[in-house]
Amino acid sequence: MTRLERSVDVLVVGGGPAGLGAAAELAASGAGHVEILEREQDAGGIPRHCLHGGFGVRGTGRFSGSGPRGGMSGPAFARACVAAAVGVGAVLRTGVSVTGWDGPRTVETTGPAGLERITARAVVLATGARERPRSARLVPGSRPPGIYTTGELQRAVHVHGQRIGTHAVVIGNEPVAHGAADTLRGAGLDIVAMVTDQPVSPLPALVRAWAGFPLLTGATVTRLTGRNRISGVELRHEDGRTTTLRCDTVVFTGDFVPEHELARRGGLVIDAGTRGPAYDTGFRTSRDGVFAVGNLLHAAEDAGVAAAEGRACAVPVLRGLAGHDRPAGPLVPLEVDPPLRWVAPNRIAPDAELHDGRFVLRTGRRLPRPHLVVSQDGRELHRQRLLLPVLPGHPFHLGAGWLERIDPHGSAVRITAL
Ligand SMILES: Cc1cc2nc3c(=O)[nH]c(=O)nc-3n(C[C@H](O)[C@H](O)[C@H](O)COP(=O)(O)OP(=O)(O)OC[C@H]3O[C@@H](n4cnc5c(N)ncnc54)[C@H](O)[C@@H]3O)c2cc1C
Repeated sequence: MTRLERSVDVLVVGGGPAGLGAAAELAASGAGHVEILEREQDAGGIPRHCLHGGFGVRGTGRFSGSGPRGGMSGPAFARACVAAAVGVGAVLRTGVSVTGWDGPRTVETTGPAGLERITARAVVLATGARERPRSARLVPGSRPPGIYTTGELQRAVHVHGQRIGTHAVVIGNEPVAHGAADTLRGAGLDIVAMVTDQPVSPLPALVRAWAGFPLLTGATVTRLTGRNRISGVELRHEDGRTTTLRCDTVVFTGDFVPEHELARRGGLVIDAGTRGPAYDTGFRTSRDGVFAVGNLLHAAEDAGVAAAEGRACAVPVLRGLAGHDRPAGPLVPLEVDPPLRWVAPNRIAPDAELHDGRFVLRTGRRLPRPHLVVSQDGRELHRQRLLLPVLPGHPFHLGAGWLERIDPHGSAVRITAL
């Protein structure tokens, strides 16, 4: 079947907060024909399914509707992002999926207008992140109805108005787990417990008192039971005990993976830690003229961070359109030592102007108020004590005041937690 050939100045793949933020800023800055392709029938990304408030307030660190947080509801935030982009002339096309590449900045699409091949002077990837389903988390047992990820739960409740069940267990204790708990309670379910394999920390006591349900720490899900409907979750505790929580609903939360299929198909270098495209301090991927923003880069941050990254990438994209795409010298890789899991951005350009002035990191296990030490070739560049413990699944940050001390011709810069 023949494809319609088209050209645009900037093609944004993904109409969530990040892609819409990028398109709004680029269209307003005179980048020419800026087109957003969104595979769903409506643009706005994940916030469309989150009825709770707290959107548009950056750095809340929590994704739930409880607590005094202000901000907009998810759908209102999604509508505001769409209006900001379309209002300055960006072209939004929904129901159009980008399925592959046919050149460095040429993509293949399928949508209501049929098959297309679109070539852009710059491509911005903003395809977001998804939660890993239970099967990918290797939890054995039967597969009856009643098992959800947070996204599936929110779609079932908020979009399709489905009845969910009566008693739920939430697996995970990341910020999004509290969003899932709010959705369950809003749908009338009792929360039997929230379960995490992480060890005890000072937070559980607070969470217990505040949220009104037990938080079981250091507990691993060993099996799900039930035939026609989920009936229980078997747990193994740190002391070797096993217990079963009776429930008819289980929600696996967090554990986000960047939606990186398109980036992989395009042969972009993927960072082993984040599993999104490797990118530098100017949102540049390993391919000239291809940029990336939002949760695709580092899985789930809050929507305000994603939208701000989208807007910030307009500067390097405009530079690229003006013919100054490549950094002025070699990129220095930025790596972490275990138990740290990853850092983003993960390449440092010599002309680095870090959006937000900080790097975002994740740890694989809880660390009580660690020192973060930045070094290169055995030389310490920076040392910073964090004021709070760091927890798996929760973002924490490292200031960027040490960038000018990097040797651009040296080896990788390393971040170690002591
Ligand atoms: C349950 C839950 C609750 C949350 N609650 C909050 C909150 O209270 N406050 C807050 O600030 N943040 C919250 N967040 C986080 C916030 O929603 C995300 O950080 C934000 O949506 C990320 O924006 P994004 O544009 O990077 O990705 P997304 O919102 O995921 O958007 C990506 C878009 O790209 C599209 N796409 C992907 N691949 C293709 C393709 N090949 N072709 C075309 N289109 C494609 C997708 O359909 C999607 O619309 C929550 C997240 C979840 C999961």
